[in-house]
Amino acid sequence: MTAKTQNPAVRARAEIDLGALRANVRTLRARSSGAQLMAVVKADAYGHGAVPCARAARQAGAAWIGTATPDEALALRAAGIEGPMMCWLWTPGGPWREAIEADIDVSVSGMWALREVTEAARAAGRTARIQLKADTGLGRNGCQPADWPELVHAALAAPEVTVTGLWSHLACADEPGHPSIAAQLTAFEEMLGFAEKAGVTPEVRHIANSPATLTLPESHYDLVRTGIAMYGVSPSPELGTARELGLRPVMTLSASVALSKHVPAGHGVSYGHHYVTERETTLGLVPLGYADGIPRHASGRGPVLVGGKVRTAAGRVAMDQFVVDLEGDTVEPGARAVLFGPGDEGEPTAEDWARAADTIAYEIVTRIGARVPRVYTHERDDEDA
Ligand SMILES: *Cc1c(COP(=O)(O)O)cnc(C)c1O
Repeated sequence: MTAKTQNPAVRARAEIDLGALRANVRTLRARSSGAQLMAVVKADAYGHGAVPCARAARQAGAAWIGTATPDEALALRAAGIEGPMMCWLWTPGGPWREAIEADIDVSVSGMWALREVTEAARAAGRTARIQLKADTGLGRNGCQPADWPELVHAALAAPEVTVTGLWSHLACADEPGHPSIAAQLTAFEEMLGFAEKAGVTPEVRHIANSPATLTLPESHYDLVRTGIAMYGVSPSPELGTARELGLRPVMTLSASVALSKHVPAGHGVSYGHHYVTERETTLGLVPLGYADGIPRHASGRGPVLVGGKVRTAAGRVAMDQFVVDLEGDTVEPGARAVLFGPGDEGEPTAEDWARAADTIAYEIVTRIGARVPRVYTHERDDEDA
């Protein structure tokens, strides 16, 4: 398969509506209590394409761009994305110097990282912009409260670095009212208070992700870091659907039906014959499989709009394809099968696939594979309402 000889839209495509992304950014900014917005575009913008999404988010007023890994941030700089940018998932030996020279804020969660970034800054002959990350209770990355004074004092004592930010991350923001939320905000206040008293004057303090941006104004501080909501996907069913949250899904995943055919009753379908036709029927072949990120776990359950009706994956999802029972309907090869999208035409949403696969919608969109071409629509912002 070469991109040159094959029309990328023929088998399957993920349409990425950048107009929807910009609208979501504007909606989220309006709900951020005046805080700045960081567009989180890690993991190739949750499968949507990091460069076009970063550009579109900037058009809609995202002050910051955020990634997990330094390589992701450096790739954005190489593609010409300018302005405030931050990355937070570092490992020893990481590209500190490249990040400093590319003017990327780097997160520091411990003394090993402070040592490495200080050395890199000295070698580069430039001051590094570092943001100290506090573990206020997530229990993942970030500096423990007991180790915070040492890290803060060491950062203040290093002339090679400037502390530009103090930040943390919430564990249960998608469960409003969870007692850990208030506990984390209290811990954050204490760790901010300590650092500021010690002499840190941060440009930005931030802790809110998408669900906190939508439900927890007291968490907004100077900056909110939105990922999933910007892509028009609800952070959790508990918070409501994307539509209820005023968000518009950005990705529409569709494929061309590869084959449809009549089969008799009692016909086994796909590996393992976990589906057997009850009566004479028609089957449609959808040319997307787990290599494309369609969860095998959704075998027998994943929904898809084909020929005007929502059908269910019949039997196993295979590596490259799955089958739907068209119940005798005639659907021509080449007909559009929509796995998920905004729902305007009755198609399922990424949240529906998450339910079918016992996972979260984050995983559904993020895992859509590299074999599925992304096709961008509404790239220009001059027609936005
Ligand atoms: C991924 C991530 C976010 C964005 O989370 P969403 O729930 O998608 O908004 C924010 N902050 C950090 C540290 C992250 O890793």
